[in-house]
Amino acid sequence: MRDEFIHEPRIAYFSMEIALCNEIPSYSGGLGILAGDTVRSSADLELPLVAVTLVSRGGYFRQEIGPEGHQIEHPAFWQPERWARRLEAAVAMSIGGHEVWVSGWLYVVEGHMGGRQPVILLDTDLEVNRAEDRDITHYLYGGDQGYRLKQEMVLGIGGVRMLQALGFEIREYHMNEGHSALLTLALLRRYAYAREDVRPGESPYDIPRVREMCTFTTHTPVESAHDQFPYNLVQPVLGDFVDAATLRALAGVDSLNMTRLALNLSEYVNGVAKRHAEVSRKLYPGYRVHAVTNGVHPFTWCSKPFAGLYDQHLPGWCHEPELLVRADQIPHAAVWEAHRQAKRQLVEKVSALTGVGLDPELPILGLARRMTAYKRPDLLFTDLARLKSIAARCPFQLVMAGKAHPRDTGGKRLIELIHAHIREMTGAVPAAFLPDYDMEIALAMVSGADLWLNTPLRPLEASGTSGMKAAFNGVPQLSVLDGWWIEGCIEGVTGWAIGDDSPEANGGDAALMYDKLEGLVLPLYYGDRDGWIEVMKGAITKNASYFNSHRMMRRYATEAYIH
Ligand SMILES: *Cc1c(COP(=O)(O)O)cnc(C)c1O
Repeated sequence: MRDEFIHEPRIAYFSMEIALCNEIPSYSGGLGILAGDTVRSSADLELPLVAVTLVSRGGYFRQEIGPEGHQIEHPAFWQPERWARRLEAAVAMSIGGHEVWVSGWLYVVEGHMGGRQPVILLDTDLEVNRAEDRDITHYLYGGDQGYRLKQEMVLGIGGVRMLQALGFEIREYHMNEGHSALLTLALLRRYAYAREDVRPGESPYDIPRVREMCTFTTHTPVESAHDQFPYNLVQPVLGDFVDAATLRALAGVDSLNMTRLALNLSEYVNGVAKRHAEVSRKLYPGYRVHAVTNGVHPFTWCSKPFAGLYDQHLPGWCHEPELLVRADQIPHAAVWEAHRQAKRQLVEKVSALTGVGLDPELPILGLARRMTAYKRPDLLFTDLARLKSIAARCPFQLVMAGKAHPRDTGGKRLIELIHAHIREMTGAVPAAFLPDYDMEIALAMVSGADLWLNTPLRPLEASGTSGMKAAFNGVPQLSVLDGWWIEGCIEGVTGWAIGDDSPEANGGDAALMYDKLEGLVLPLYYGDRDGWIEVMKGAITKNASYFNSHRMMRRYATEAYIH
């Protein structure tokens, strides 16, 4: 390993997925984007971090949309040798009773301000390994539970060992979601007491010492989405890596629950927004759950026109996005012109990818998310007659995108339904669905739309980040009050809320959304352009200045990493 990275103690940041750049398809969505933004902000702030993930050579998948609007999945292989350097180290671990070697790659995130961060991409595709072990690190969220457990062993246990083999001194381990929680077991073994010092009935491990070193961020209040492995699956694969009594005491009696394990062995636990922390406290009574609300990386999520505008008026904003509180001093005309440029780019992209022609003079509503039931990406189409009548009075256009997990049949059905609705609205609402949602499409959409829409089922949107990206580009949100929007929404100032923040409000959302679009939002766009630009500026000054990953990492550094 280069001396550059091992000369000082570092924070090890473990994540199953990290969105390193648009060309590397080793991420599926929000979790990976957040991990990528975490590493990018750490590079800009020169925080001593080292990220650990799986190489995921086979990527997540590339999405094609079939003629009937159904999702077709293609493998998305990428070549690590083109982007990263092979590690000189390999470590062995026991999986399923035999030896599996883990090596990998060093990818360096280079910040645009000169900072550099190492990312370790773990890889089992080595000639010494059995054929069935060589693809353990290939497919992100692919395979069955047994495959997933092996992946999580490589990530957690292999990752800890690899850092040691490379010469890293780690001062804190940060688990981004529970997938990497097995790292705690590797640490327990490292800090085991000598056998003769352990009295009967006492734990053979220095648990307080491990807890002191660990931070855990939980990302979803959907309990079924947390990894849980039955012990009859775990035992043959994990073996007696740590003793069974300790494992059951820390990870759950009935099954190995990765969230429980992480909760029990982390000194600092946090949710990704204030409401999410509250919900998590109810879900896991007895744990102290802090809130560090997510943020997005300033430079990555600003379109070129807006980055240029900020460079000119607020130099230094990339290092210190707090400066955006002064964006209200930028002339209205300059903000509008930057937005027009970003919008033109989106209109061109939509035309190139789908052949749909949009009118840059008419408002564009943008909506992109993981296509899954709780995100309710089809809520806008609840009442097509109403939607058409709104469009007849205040014309608008629609751009959508999003992938469904290959095994989420409900999510895939939603994509088909959305395409059917788009066809039904032909002639009334020009609409396009961009295939293969990725970072590039996300940036084009959050900057080129006039209004960002978000309609999840409360309280299941732990944070949500696409609306924060929109804020960086002066695009206000119309969103259900959930996740970060409970903190970010000032009605009519930074955007608009749909309903209140109680779960009882879920049923009324469609009607309230139509009322607000028709009665408030679209009339403002058409009737009071200066008033509209004020809201654009409100999104920048009050939301982008705060909901960024620089602020997030400064908080992690002072509250979680240093204690
Ligand atoms: C930002 C982003 C997401 C997450 O957006 P949410 O609003 O949190 O759902 C998912 N995928 C891509 C490609 C993104 O850029």
